[in-house]
Amino acid sequence: MNIILFGAPGAGKGTQANFLIKEFDLIQISTGDMLRDIVKCKTELGKKVEKIMANGDLVSDDIIFSLISNRLNNKDIKNGFIFDGFPRNLKQAKKLDEIINDNNIHLDFVFHIDVDEEILTSRIENRAKYEITTRKDDTSAVLIERLKVYNRETKPVLDYYSDKKILNVIDGMGTIDEVSSSIFRIIKNDFKVD
Ligand code: ADP
Repeated sequence: MNIILFGAPGAGKGTQANFLIKEFDLIQISTGDMLRDIVKCKTELGKKVEKIMANGDLVSDDIIFSLISNRLNNKDIKNGFIFDGFPRNLKQAKKLDEIINDNNIHLDFVFHIDVDEEILTSRIENRAKYEITTRKDDTSAVLIERLKVYNRETKPVLDYYSDKKILNVIDGMGTIDEVSSSIFRIIKNDFKVD
């Protein structure tokens, strides 16, 4: 089973991704995690990526495309994967269509964990204030910037999947359990798993 998970910063995407990975034995393909690994290497590329991420901007599509195609070549994805953080703009979504076609991959579910803007903003402020994080891009100012970038670049991708009639919008304003139940209900309905 192959899944794409969308959610603005503060929407709870990471938490739900973890549930799905455990339940369905999926491989997580997180472009954010892959980029953080590159930053750790302190190469020229690492330094460049670090700056972009620290500002909350998007890393160039070329870098993302080479990360994704390398990752999909790895045979461990055969049981299924979950894309977390990709595609993040329309160009990436169209590239993903090509990759899917070329590799005969079937996309089973696209979820958007939907949370109102005001709630996101207050979650973001709380997260920056009270949660211990090692991420440089989790300060309130950068999170707000990431939210802007999400609205500008990633929201059109949601419309793209909605037009294709494969977008499942999940109410992300309930409890963590309520959100995961909504996601699991949709999967179980379509997959007829127990
Ligand atoms: P979030 O917690 O907001 O989902 P991620 O861990 O997915 O954040 O991404 C962190 C940062 O990494 C982004 O703000 C961006 O700079 C960069 N990034 C991650 N994925 C992509 C992508 N697909 N395209 C461009 N930049 C990306």
